[in-house]
Formats: sequence, C-alpha cells, structure tokens
Amino acid sequence: MSGLEEARARDAADPLGQWRKHFELPKDVTYLDGNSLGPLPRKAKSVMQDAVERQWGHDLIRSWNSNDWIGAPQRIGGKIAGLIGAAAGEVIVADSVSVNIFKLITAIVRQRGGTTHIISETGNFPTDAHVAAGAADILGLELKLLPRDEIVSAIADDTAMLLLTHVHYKTGTRFDMAAVTAAAKAKGVPVIWDLSHSTGAVPLDLPRDGAQYAVGCGYKYLNGGPGAPAFIYVAKDHQEALRSPLQGWMGHKRPFAFEDAYEPASGLDRMLVGTPSILSMLAMEAGVDIMADADMQALWEKSQALFDYMAGLMAARCPQFQMVSPTDAAERGSHISFAHEHAWPINNALIAHGVIGDFRAPDILRLGLTPLYLGFEDIWRTVDILGGIMDSDEWQKPQYSEAAKVT
Ligand SMILES: *Cc1c(COP(=O)(O)O)cnc(C)c1O
Repeated sequence: MSGLEEARARDAADPLGQWRKHFELPKDVTYLDGNSLGPLPRKAKSVMQDAVERQWGHDLIRSWNSNDWIGAPQRIGGKIAGLIGAAAGEVIVADSVSVNIFKLITAIVRQRGGTTHIISETGNFPTDAHVAAGAADILGLELKLLPRDEIVSAIADDTAMLLLTHVHYKTGTRFDMAAVTAAAKAKGVPVIWDLSHSTGAVPLDLPRDGAQYAVGCGYKYLNGGPGAPAFIYVAKDHQEALRSPLQGWMGHKRPFAFEDAYEPASGLDRMLVGTPSILSMLAMEAGVDIMADADMQALWEKSQALFDYMAGLMAARCPQFQMVSPTDAAERGSHISFAHEHAWPINNALIAHGVIGDFRAPDILRLGLTPLYLGFEDIWRTVDILGGIMDSDEWQKPQYSEAAKVT
C-alpha cells in the first residue's frame, strides 16, 4: 500500500470521520489552523440566519426573553462546563480572554493582603503577560515572568497568584495542572489557568485537578467564530468572594431595577460587565454544541494518532525540521510545532499550496491537529506538499520572503 492509500484506509476506519461533514471546509484547502480560528460549523449558518432574520429582524427587543438572549452567557457557559468537568454555574461566557484575565486577577488580589507579586511564564502568550503587567501595575504588585521549570519553586507566601497557560501556544507543551495547582495551594496561592489551547483539545477535569480559576477561548477548538466571546471558570466555593473590578450593570444583582448603588449578582453572573455580544454568542453556541456531542476521549486518542503519524512522516520526509512539541502525549496539547530557521517563507509557500498552518516568531511552523474534522490523508498531503517545497527550494521565491511581509 502506498502512503496515501494507507492514510485513506485509516480515515475510512475512523469512527470520528463523520464529524467532518458538520463543517464548511473549502475543497482546495487543508486546514491546520483550527487551533487559531476554528472553521465554520454548518449549523452556525442556519443559527445566524435565524438570529438575524427572525430574532433580531422580527422579534426585536422581545428576544431578550422570548429567545433567551439574556440567558446566553449562562446557558453556553453551562455547555462549556460539561467539556471541562465543571458543574453548571461554574462557567460563564463573557468578553475576551484578555478582559477576563484582568477581571480575575484583580478580583483575586482584592481578597488577598500582604502579597507582592504575580508569577507567570517567560514566553507566555503575549496578552496574558501584558494584561498581568497592567493589572499588577494598578494593584501595586510586581509581575515575575519565570522559565517553566522555575515556577513551582518560586511560589512563596507573598505570591498573589500564578497565571499559567495550560497548553503553550507555540510548542504545545502542557503543564501538569493537578501538580502545579496542588503545589500552589500548599502555600495558599491561587492559580488562574488559561485554557485557550486546551478546551476542546485535551480532556479536562478541572475539579479533579483542584483548579479554582480558569479562562478560555471561544474561537479556537470550540469553533465559535472570529472574535467569539471567551469564558471564565470559577469553582463554586470561590465565587461569592469575587469582586470584579469592572462593575457593570449586567453583573448587578438586579440589572433591571436600575439602581444607583452596585450590588454584585450572586454566583458567576457578577463577572459579566456590559451587554453581551448576542450574535457572536449564538454563533459560538453552534460550535460548542458540536464539541459537546463529540466524545472528548476519542478525539484525544485520534489527536495522538494524528500527531504520531505526522511526527513519523516529517522525520522521514522533512528531517531538516526539528520537532519542538513533546513526544509524550501527557505533556502536550493538540498541535505540533517544528522549528526551522526559514519557517516564515516555508509557511507562506505552504499557504500558496492550500495548506494553512501558521508561523510563530521567531522560527516555528505550527500545525493544528484538530481530530474533529481532520484525517490522516490531510496529514499525508501536508507532508507531501512540504517535502516538495523543500526539495525544489520553492520556499526561496521572492514572494514568500520576509521582504514581502505585510505587518
Ligand atoms: C488565543 C489566546 C488568547 C486570546 O485572547 P483574546 O483576548 O481572546 O484575544 C489568550 N491567551 C492565550 C494563551 C491564547 O492562546
């Protein structure tokens, strides 16, 4: 059997192959960037049409009640809760990851006296570090960015919190959530987990792992659409002590009593700020519904098979690339990254051939392995095309070069 035939045979035997038809995937594209922007779920098209024409167009403002717009943050949050092992009421959909990080950091620090610094990771996703630096500045704290292997030993009594990204956006390296949370808890220090590259990518059970606080992204593995809102998880026991720094009317106990004085809503509703972006939320719900129906454990097993398949093909066909993602599945997420000094023009050449992955500075080619709609043939095709690009030096064409970069 040829490599291609073997890949097709594996796809034909894949019980998860049926999920692909739920997505719009252009015929001329192999999409390996669902970890950055998930593709369009077919259902989202009819959901959006209904939301625009019937709900907004006809029902108008009555929709807040008749179409439960007002309940969308909690309703969709409840569905996401099911994906991360949490209970309904422990997740709410709101704002962006960045804004949610700010709200959580501040709400936690306001409960803790005598702390001097926040700890995060050197090379964390930029927004996490930027927001943490801004919040630390306002709160009179220092932000310490430390290499991953120095973080646990640096936790001290005067550490305000840890802000850690569970699966690293560049390399895919995954923290041991249970071990790090336990080590921090032993010193009384809370951890905020950023699940942007984890939710819908790896099996999660936040209560089992002792997690108290988390944020996550709607437009990556949840396929919620461009700019989809994000979510916040707070374990039940920690909700009543939270005081959001952004005291908006949607987080008020009685938003429609129009009172002068702010009183936080009960539970996680208090983390809402302003009027939710309903159209984005409804589009997102279509993506979340698909993920909620899929078997996360089976997806994760297929993710590992796709990873091993790609790692093997790359080592044989494109040995000039150095894999930087962990080989041990327990230590990674659902994307695979390779270092190459010319990753930028190579990625451009791949895109010109319809293979969409992405480049992450300074030298990373990042490929999202999303088992919900990708198969073995996609992987085979990607490596075949990449091999051709490298053999022919096609990546050296001027149109792919750094000089042509638009920033
Ligand atoms: C994608 C991503 C974000 C996105 O933040 P937004 O505010 O929603 O743009 C944040 N953190 C990490 C680790 C991410 O991967």
